[in-house]
Amino acid sequence: MWPPYTSRERHEGHDPLVVVEADGSWLFDHDGRRYFDAIGSWWTCTLGHRHPRLVARVREQSERLFHVAAGGTTHPEIALLARELVAVAPPGLTRAHFSDDGSTSVEVATKIAFQYWQQNGRPARRRFVALSGAYHGDTLAAMSLASIEEFRGTFGPLLFEIHRAPSPTEVGGWDRVLESLRRSLRAHADEVAAIVVEPLVQGASGMRMHHPEVLRELHALSREIDTLFVADEVFTGYGRTGAMWACTQAGITPDLLCVAKGFTAGVLPMAATLATERVYDGFSGGASRALMHGHTFSGHALGAAVAREVLAIYRDEAILDGLELRARSIAAWTARMGQLPGVRAHRALGMIGALDLGHVGYGGTGVGLRVAELARERGVFLRPLGDTVYVTPRLNVPLEELAWLLDAVEGAVRAGLERA
Ligand SMILES: *Cc1c(COP(=O)(O)O)cnc(C)c1O
Repeated sequence: MWPPYTSRERHEGHDPLVVVEADGSWLFDHDGRRYFDAIGSWWTCTLGHRHPRLVARVREQSERLFHVAAGGTTHPEIALLARELVAVAPPGLTRAHFSDDGSTSVEVATKIAFQYWQQNGRPARRRFVALSGAYHGDTLAAMSLASIEEFRGTFGPLLFEIHRAPSPTEVGGWDRVLESLRRSLRAHADEVAAIVVEPLVQGASGMRMHHPEVLRELHALSREIDTLFVADEVFTGYGRTGAMWACTQAGITPDLLCVAKGFTAGVLPMAATLATERVYDGFSGGASRALMHGHTFSGHALGAAVAREVLAIYRDEAILDGLELRARSIAAWTARMGQLPGVRAHRALGMIGALDLGHVGYGGTGVGLRVAELARERGVFLRPLGDTVYVTPRLNVPLEELAWLLDAVEGAVRAGLERA
């Protein structure tokens, strides 16, 4: 086994957590010990592990159809999923293209945007604009858009040039970022294919958050120069920020929206890229104008059945209605933890709570890793982003379990800071 993001020395020298089973909030190891899945299995597990309805739906669909090639066929699950997904999407997004994971959903959005301008009279529009601190996945286009050096550094020569906004952490903050973007985008309006943004929260670069007004301004800028706006909601979608979509919290509809992590609630790898009718219309006019992108497992029937069931559970169990109460206790906890000496900054939004114990960014001083180890002793599985310790529990976590989790992480953070 060659695991992701893990040095050979760590892989060979440390015992990983051996998870043999999971249920609700909990992972169980081979000795029967349990650990709270505080990161919702890399932000996917929005409804808890082995939700009975998802287990049943997998079983049921398995009796009928796993997969059929999406070229020249369709099946009820994918057709109905497209309709049901569009019905809950920000208004104006009317078309869904299905792929496998977050990176591919971004890859697809990038190619759609590029091809759209190539064949609709603006071929000079080839440049993408992205934010500082962005993460959009590990495939080449997604990496080109990202700015986390640890991920993209080595691959620099393979990546395409983009226009990157300055960092909001420097003097002037977001005002300066927006002013700089306004200036450069107005000057190069004819060259911009799309502005690509993780709305409200940049997850992988350390749960960095911005105000909805920033998102509105970025979107307004895309309207002003009439370019496409891509919202990468791979992490933020499906309730993570406290509403179904981060975009709707700012009252915007992007031209393209990427969905993945919560899409099947962690059951199967599946993703979607949603588009507006305007974008879709740009691909009519015969075979030479068709979208030149597809994946073998596009529109996978088992994944589609599960994704439909996820939406049904959101509706039947009023998952989004339960977020406010939980979000409030996470926010109160981060605010309280922010008072501890050694906690340099704290942030919360929806079902995300984050504490910076060292510097922000990937890598880190080791305090994050130490806290994760102390948390594991306390029955919590954490995976800090460098020195940023965060929780992203399932959206339907019972309140008493959430309280237990926050107490346990507090204990680990206190102990970790004492040893620093
Ligand atoms: C995780 C993530 C991706 C990549 O998704 P994968 O399924 O890992 O390929 C893309 N964009 C954002 C915002 C993400 O958080």
